Amino acid sequence: MTKRIGVLALQGGYAAHAKTLRACGYDAPEIRTAEQLATVDGLCLPGGESTTHLRLIDRFELRKPLDAFVAAGKPILATCAGLILSATHVTHPEQPSYGWLDVDVARNAWGRQVHSFEAAAQPRGALAGGEPLPLIFIRAPRITRVGEGVEVLAAIDDEPIMVRQGHVIGAAYHPELTDDVRVHRLAFGA
Ligand code: GLN
Repeated sequence: MTKRIGVLALQGGYAAHAKTLRACGYDAPEIRTAEQLATVDGLCLPGGESTTHLRLIDRFELRKPLDAFVAAGKPILATCAGLILSATHVTHPEQPSYGWLDVDVARNAWGRQVHSFEAAAQPRGALAGGEPLPLIFIRAPRITRVGEGVEVLAAIDDEPIMVRQGHVIGAAYHPELTDDVRVHRLAFGA
């Protein structure tokens, strides 16, 4: 049976994740309710505006269902604003977060390049050995602390930009805006 990997579709760049998921051969329904969340095997948390996401997740009563989804061990790929939501602690400015991934992040803080830029990085850890990963950053958060047991999947100048802890992957950049599907495949499997 085709795997169903949902995309949280409250705000932001969810359409690009859905396109990438379909390119990987998964069904990729948009998720806006707890009932819809219950039908999928994994979930992408897209980029966008993390403050808006926080508000909409509360309004759509998705906080507890999302916590339960992560606690059940279902895979999550969180990009940019999604990474900010998933972190243990958020600064610049401080805001609440869900603590699904043991990293601290500073919003809009990627070096002096606070707007957008492209780069490439040699993949590490579970992704090591392949071609450099194409990277697109849009007002990206900076990962300022990585907890024990968090694996670095990519870095720029030794600063982590993509990490994995168990079944949760967080990326400061946007793999869904490139043609490279390795990150989505690693997150959600065959
Ligand atoms: N700057 C956004 C935030 O702080 C994230 C940007 C993005 O998701 N591309 O929420």
